[in-house]
Amino acid sequence: MTLYPYYTAYQSQDVRQQVRHAMRVGEDGSVLLRLGIAAFRAGRVTQLRFCGSCLAQMRERYGELYWRRDHQLPSALVCPEHAKLLQVGTVRLTGCSRHRFVPADRQTCPWR
Ligand SMILES: [Zn+2]
Repeated sequence: MTLYPYYTAYQSQDVRQQVRHAMRVGEDGSVLLRLGIAAFRAGRVTQLRFCGSCLAQMRERYGELYWRRDHQLPSALVCPEHAKLLQVGTVRLTGCSRHRFVPADRQTCPWR
């Protein structure tokens, strides 16, 4: 449910274990520093993103919508499944509680 696999893909086992421990105990600052996220060249995602074709598929297959983790990666601009540009939803990740539940729906994902 997190971007842990993305940010640790090329890290040593030792760093991965340190980051995992820091996440468990809630040391956000040390995670950002250990992984170099603060100095990451690709900008951080500030609004949740979605693909309209994925949403249509989710609704048909599961009867509900959800946020895809791979759409929220900092350098991802295109849906890996449909090769369409990702659209920006209305959910801002800054200035609000990170523990808030916000469903993917027509209001948060106003796709065209
Ligand atoms: Zn898609």
